[in-house]
Amino acid sequence: MPDVFADLVGQDEAVTELRRAAAAAAAVLRAGAADRAPALLAAGPVGDAESALAADDAAPGGVDPSAGMTHAWIFTGPPGSGRSVAARAFAAALQCVHGTGCGDCPGCRTTLGGTHADVRLVVPEGLSIGVGEMRALVLRAASTPSGGRWQVVVIEDADRLTEAAGNALLKAIEEPPPRTVFLLCAPSTHPDDISVTIRSRCRVVPLRQPPATAVAEVLVRRDGIAPDVAQWAAAAAQGHVGRARRLARDPEARKRREAVLAVPRRLTGVGAAFDAASALIEAAEAEAEASVSEADTTERSALERALGAGGTGRGAAGAMRGAAGQLKELEKRQKSRATRAQRDALDRALVDLAGFYRDALTMALRAPVDPVHTDTAALAGAGAQKWDAEGSLRRLEAVLACRAAIEANVKPRIAVEAMMLALWKG
Ligand SMILES: [Zn+2]
Repeated sequence: MPDVFADLVGQDEAVTELRRAAAAAAAVLRAGAADRAPALLAAGPVGDAESALAADDAAPGGVDPSAGMTHAWIFTGPPGSGRSVAARAFAAALQCVHGTGCGDCPGCRTTLGGTHADVRLVVPEGLSIGVGEMRALVLRAASTPSGGRWQVVVIEDADRLTEAAGNALLKAIEEPPPRTVFLLCAPSTHPDDISVTIRSRCRVVPLRQPPATAVAEVLVRRDGIAPDVAQWAAAAAQGHVGRARRLARDPEARKRREAVLAVPRRLTGVGAAFDAASALIEAAEAEAEASVSEADTTERSALERALGAGGTGRGAAGAMRGAAGQLKELEKRQKSRATRAQRDALDRALVDLAGFYRDALTMALRAPVDPVHTDTAALAGAGAQKWDAEGSLRRLEAVLACRAAIEANVKPRIAVEAMMLALWKG
């Protein structure tokens, strides 16, 4: 039976640290020390595992890298490196009845399945996590764990906390209830992603971009994908495990990728550049629509049922009038989720495109590295000859600038049009 860390691809150092922390946390529980943590804190560190939490709390800034366990963690790394996989695996290890993350006990299985009563998972659906959501979460996280171990709060995309939500979270992290553990995921510890004060209270677990060979290996082992397909998908996905799996399995995802990689040869003039921009935006919209429309419909009919739509009589009509506000609220949330899905789809396309120009650049430089996109390597080679290293680099930078502009809230269509023109002109 593979344990809960088995899917954390190419992250040996992080896994070692998390295993050690899980063992220390289990020792804390065995000693009953967590409940006495404030006393321990006042008394100063004693013993090994028992002192771990107290030592962390006592250290200025809350971080002591030598201690095994602490109340607040940040998992950082590039998209697809497995930040949320790591956080969930660690959550499971904390709830594991053996204290190891065996992958098989009820604690491990309910945590990974998302049904453990003491594990709260925050996955923002819109562009940010609001203060209301965070306050409710912090409040619930302070309660005694019903399973007798830990209250674990996993916050995916902690970089999408609003400032007010970040402050609500900070308060909880500064004065953590003795049995509560916060696990945050963010791209980096840059102040744009996570506030300096939250960062200073957390231990950071940096994840790296897993090598293509490690990604291919897990696709073969876990998903039963043929080795040659797995290898191609792992390289094309540039270390993004989830994306590699989608490329290996989903013909639609492969088709969308091919359309993106056809962009460089379609850029024959100004008109073609604008056409390519429209095509890219519309493809991202269609992909996003496909990914959220089912959930939208299900949510809406569930809410309407709950509000008594379809009922007859005066009661139902009255309820429906009062329900307009709730439906509006749902629509707002769904719109925010759709925007997010569109941005994510567009960003995947831009990462693919950046890979193409990176291939052209490495070929122009005759760098001894494998191409990202083996299937368009010949085209990238032709580009390298035509543009030289400098021209390839300018194009790569145009794609990266487009990503940065969208991240900074420039309207996607405007950013993509500017990029396409730059790619055409060089
Ligand atoms: Zn277990």
